Amino acid sequence: MNRTMVADTINKIGEEVTIMGWVETRRDHGKIVFIDLRDRTGKLQIVFVPGSRAYEKVSEVRPEWVLSIVGKVKARPEKLINKNLVTGTVEMEAADLEVLNESKTPPFEVDKDTSKVEEELRLKYRYLDLRSDRMVKNITLRHHIIRFIREYLWSQDFREIETPYLTKSTPEGAREFVVPSRLFSGEFYVLPQSPQQFKQLLMVAGIEKYFQIARCFRDEDQRGDRQPEFTQLDLEMSFVEEEDILKLTESLMTDLTKAVCPEKRIAMAPFPRISYKDSMEKYQSDKPDLRKDKGDKNELAFVWIVGAPLFKYSASEKKLVSSHHPFTMPRAEDLEMLDKEPEKVRAYAYDLVLNGFEVAGGSVRIHKRDIQEKIFKLLGVSEEEKNRRFGHMLEAFEFGAPPHGGIASGLDRLVTILAGEEVIREAMAFPKTGDARDPLMGAPSPISEKQLKDVHIELSKEAKGKALKTADTETND
Ligand code: ASP
Repeated sequence: MNRTMVADTINKIGEEVTIMGWVETRRDHGKIVFIDLRDRTGKLQIVFVPGSRAYEKVSEVRPEWVLSIVGKVKARPEKLINKNLVTGTVEMEAADLEVLNESKTPPFEVDKDTSKVEEELRLKYRYLDLRSDRMVKNITLRHHIIRFIREYLWSQDFREIETPYLTKSTPEGAREFVVPSRLFSGEFYVLPQSPQQFKQLLMVAGIEKYFQIARCFRDEDQRGDRQPEFTQLDLEMSFVEEEDILKLTESLMTDLTKAVCPEKRIAMAPFPRISYKDSMEKYQSDKPDLRKDKGDKNELAFVWIVGAPLFKYSASEKKLVSSHHPFTMPRAEDLEMLDKEPEKVRAYAYDLVLNGFEVAGGSVRIHKRDIQEKIFKLLGVSEEEKNRRFGHMLEAFEFGAPPHGGIASGLDRLVTILAGEEVIREAMAFPKTGDARDPLMGAPSPISEKQLKDVHIELSKEAKGKALKTADTETND
């Protein structure tokens, strides 16, 4: 197809080209009509003057219609140059126009900032919301961030490896999403809260440097600005100490910021390191916001919080629970307190905080069976549970597990902050609502009797009543 992208028209002055895209606005100025046409590279002003074939057809055109327009690119006179447009130095005089598709009137104005539009509506018509300038900017920034991270880690000899989504539970402190097995009645897969165990097993396998842009699933009651599925930059390395992981993460974040958000300033470099204890004492928080000017969207205050306690006491469970996860290594100098005062033992664990939000967290891992068993014991994990849930990890540690450690960074939150947004949903293409629904696809939704039967599930009376209302009308095969 002989198509010129809108952004390329600035190099085609005097030429006749064909452009295709969506009508953003139509303005009638007496006899002359203007259209701003949008494609993925930008917007172009098109002039329709009486006498052309295009002019005859333009009066029926409405916002969001899809057009193909043939016309001549012209330089704009000096005083009509629009600095806010990529194509502000040119415009096109339309010769002919073809309507490729019409559009209903959108339920909200796509050419405006949609952040104030009711969320349910925005998410139901996310494909329209994603046409708005702000969303295009955010999603493009996300793409550049992910691209930079990949290239950065590939160039340092990391292997990008996918780990399973259908797996077994891995403890990260949240409830899990479960997927019933059809082939094994009464059995379930669990969606991973993180690739934690697999990445450690990749270290046992000798991969040494792993990363993945990984989807993680946590079925939490919606607290704050969280999503049931979110994306982590997950990485793991062998033969490293805490320092190596901190250094790698710090250079990655610094270089990333310079490359994709040159307008941002990193307030303190190297990133300050504060012990968990000092942070709690000084800021009453393990996520201090150290910006000098909290209103300055371009200030980035990264800070490491290190040496958090290995365990914390859970009043509801009346026992010790892991502060991070049970695979975290206790600090060597605190090992002797493990039996008598386990709550005082600090971990080789670190969180990276940015402007008051945790953007990464990780630890050096246990790689020896005896220490791992001891931790499970202190956590009150029974022999039976230990073998059933973690037997494979303990066994793997007996086959030459190297010392290793890693970190995972919450990409959605990072993009949110770098985009200057406040809500995580602004940094995701298809987020869920605050109560974990997808109004566009209509998820979650009931499934048919047959599907339920296939996976050996019988609904309770209440669930059945609710499900019947919608399921009757659906065919799920
Ligand atoms: N798996 C951890 C998490 O999801 C991160 C890590 O320890 O690397 O928080």
